[in-house]
Amino acid sequence: SGRLAGKVVVITGAASGIGKATAAEFVRNGAKVVIADVQDDLGRAVAGELGGPDTACYARCDVTDEAQVAAAVDLAVARHGRLDVMFNNAGITGGNYAGAPIESLDMADFDRVMAVNLRGVAAGIKHAARAMVPRGEGCILCTSSTAGALGGSGPHAYSVSKTAVVGMVRSAAVELAARGVRVNAISPYAIATAMGTRSVREILGLPSVGAGAEEEEEEVLRRVFDEDFNEMGCGVVLRAEDVARAAVFLASDDARYITGHNLMVDGGFSVG
Ligand code: NAD
Repeated sequence: SGRLAGKVVVITGAASGIGKATAAEFVRNGAKVVIADVQDDLGRAVAGELGGPDTACYARCDVTDEAQVAAAVDLAVARHGRLDVMFNNAGITGGNYAGAPIESLDMADFDRVMAVNLRGVAAGIKHAARAMVPRGEGCILCTSSTAGALGGSGPHAYSVSKTAVVGMVRSAAVELAARGVRVNAISPYAIATAMGTRSVREILGLPSVGAGAEEEEEEVLRRVFDEDFNEMGCGVVLRAEDVARAAVFLASDDARYITGHNLMVDGGFSVG
């Protein structure tokens, strides 16, 4: 039972943060989930916590390698007979958070970010479509960001990649609408995930701590993050779970006429 009862889902970047919270929320709503990530130990632990092989399994999947994206989709189909939902969520930030001027833009860093955040999403859409179109149904979700809608809210490569994700979503949505597959983006504002707290450390120029103190540091960074970046929207602090619930809606049949949309989960940040 649940809003996603029996749906078969692949989530990239599901070992941590938004992907992990979404995997949990999807399973709570009755879905079967493939946790696709490059952090093997964390990914396997998440799959284990979510109830074992029938409900959740781990697949190593570096989204910069198309063959691994194809394999994650094929694993879902082999195990459960089909793919209903593909959540292209894996992402990384770029290097020049500390206000480095554009004249010193690091082009290798730019390519690295685009390879994960944009090419990874494009590969995910391609291989999800391969599995979904023959059945004439399916739902593809992609994580963009408020950084894709606004300038100056992330390193350049990151912002560009997230704007481009919305472009890719729109163009895929138009093509796939007539073939029964919906494609939507979700754009969260800042959240104190592993990525979020790392960027706080970079923005504030805090040194990273030595081994053994990571948990303590995480807690401090989380507090700084919530106070400095995240006390504006709707009187609540944004959590990965809020994004997960938006993803449940878009993935559910309640959203059956919604495609090509970019759902902001940002407490009004992008319209302020
Ligand atoms: P996170 O660091 O907690 O999780 C990201 C996950 O992606 C990690 O488990 C990581 O191992 C995985 N990943 C990285 N590179 C990968 C690759 N090449 N192949 C497969 N997996 C890979 O961060 P998060 O905040 O949960 O980020 C999830 C998504 O949300 C990203 O696309 C990010 O850009 C986006 N986002 C984050 C925020 C924020 O403030 N945290 C805001 C808006 C959008």
